[in-house]
Amino acid sequence: ALAPLNRALLSVSDKTGLVELATALAARGVELLSTGGSAKTLRDAGLDVKDVAEITGFPEMMDGRVKTLHPMVHGGLLALRDNATHVDAMTTHGIGAIDLLVVNLYPFEAALARGADYDEMIENIDIGGPAMIRAAAKNHSFVTTIVDVEDYSALLAELDANDGQTSYAFRQRHAQIAYARTSAYDAAVSTWMAGSIGEETPRRRAFAGTLAQTLRYGENPHQQAAFYKDGSSRAGVATATQHQGKELSYNNINDTDAAFELVSEFAPEDGPAVAIIKHANPCGVARGDTLLEAYSRAFDCDRTSAFGGIIALNGTLDAATASEICNIFTEVVIAPDATEEARAIFAAKKNLRLLTTGALADPRTPQLSYRQVAGGLLVQDKDTGHITRDDLKVVTKRAPSEAELADMLFAWTVAKHVKSNAIVYVKDRATVGVGAGQMSRVDSSTIAALKAARMAEECGLPQSLAQGSVVASDAFFPFADGLLAAAEAGATAIIQPGGSMRDDDVIKAADDAGLAMVLTGMRHFRH
Ligand code: 5GP
Repeated sequence: ALAPLNRALLSVSDKTGLVELATALAARGVELLSTGGSAKTLRDAGLDVKDVAEITGFPEMMDGRVKTLHPMVHGGLLALRDNATHVDAMTTHGIGAIDLLVVNLYPFEAALARGADYDEMIENIDIGGPAMIRAAAKNHSFVTTIVDVEDYSALLAELDANDGQTSYAFRQRHAQIAYARTSAYDAAVSTWMAGSIGEETPRRRAFAGTLAQTLRYGENPHQQAAFYKDGSSRAGVATATQHQGKELSYNNINDTDAAFELVSEFAPEDGPAVAIIKHANPCGVARGDTLLEAYSRAFDCDRTSAFGGIIALNGTLDAATASEICNIFTEVVIAPDATEEARAIFAAKKNLRLLTTGALADPRTPQLSYRQVAGGLLVQDKDTGHITRDDLKVVTKRAPSEAELADMLFAWTVAKHVKSNAIVYVKDRATVGVGAGQMSRVDSSTIAALKAARMAEECGLPQSLAQGSVVASDAFFPFADGLLAAAEAGATAIIQPGGSMRDDDVIKAADDAGLAMVLTGMRHFRH
């Protein structure tokens, strides 16, 4: 066992709890070393503290860029106390051992969050702090490293339980936490730089993230989970303000993201739009003349699935829409904003979470997406592919009407956000049937048609909602069967990437059925 802690170096940007910790350490007979601002805080509180400048023989210089980068500090952190050569070096150079390092870094992430300019971000890159943390953590056989205000009380409890020392297990665990902190810190710096210079390729990217929330559980109750934020300013679930309701769960966060990313595709200039999401797939997406109408039309696509769903709006939530939403159980509503009235209406629904984002997300902004596989991580550009009318190639004898064209583009946009195989029926800019995630395209087609027929039945309508609709397929039809299933369900026009070996057969089948078909030349797999 080591002798009780003798000397501690405290150098923190966030001064929360510093005086309390230092007081408790001093009471245990620990000598305190510190840097400029931290030392002042301690001295002002009446504590006895020595400035690092005093032991290095150098003043802090260059606006604090150089404070602790000195052998008197790093030797004290790195020396092996049971190694004769190291001990000799300490004696020769008059280096005193440092047993405890308490550091929290320049608030780079906070500067990022408040949108600081380039020069300010650069000044917020801590150099000496990470160097000390890495040194102390490497030498955890002898040195204790604390990098988080939240761990101060655990440290004091540990000292009490171990006669003024820490256990090896404690030092090792906090060394691991220390490296998690420095790696996340540098990743945040690198990710910010990538953003400022437009480096968006998956190569040479670090994975940044700071723990934002420990989640109650993951996808299932027996899975532990946490939410990390990467410091991005993109409007969405990570940057939204929550106005009411319980904490978001793992699945809520995932589904809310899917909902908001989808609705952000629908420019508010072209009118209100609403998306309702379940299990990350849309069960209804619609435009309308008002948000209320858009919501009602989205809801009418699949009223059964909408229960317990997540709703995203592309405009300010108003009172009328809020009242309508209250008619069924909804987990989360996310919108750029909400009126006072709408908020008051939701206030009565304690379990409903309301999130506002301030803006929509730009669907064209490049981003990376990550997926874990056993033993690795797959990284790719997020699918920002976008099609306009000019990109469409009409391949059938019959050209689509204006109304069909508008619906085809709408359906195509929705299909991009549906798990493959994706089939989406749309009429008058509202989905009327969504088939998601099936292993065969025909099955997705069948399911979408079935939902359209069932919904019509529920509403007492004489014919399927898919009657007179258009249909989008996220990838080409490998055979004519999927297309024929859509025609049978009532679709009159089709939008799909094309590119199958059997395109000619598929086009002929479309012509024979009197359908209009356009090819996008781009597919939207989503797995
Ligand atoms: P203080 O408020 O005590 O003056 O400064 C504390 C901050 O300085 C901590 O966040 C710590 O990580 C950082 N720091 C300590 N030594 C150095 C150094 O040599 N260079 C730089 N850039 N930062 C340091």
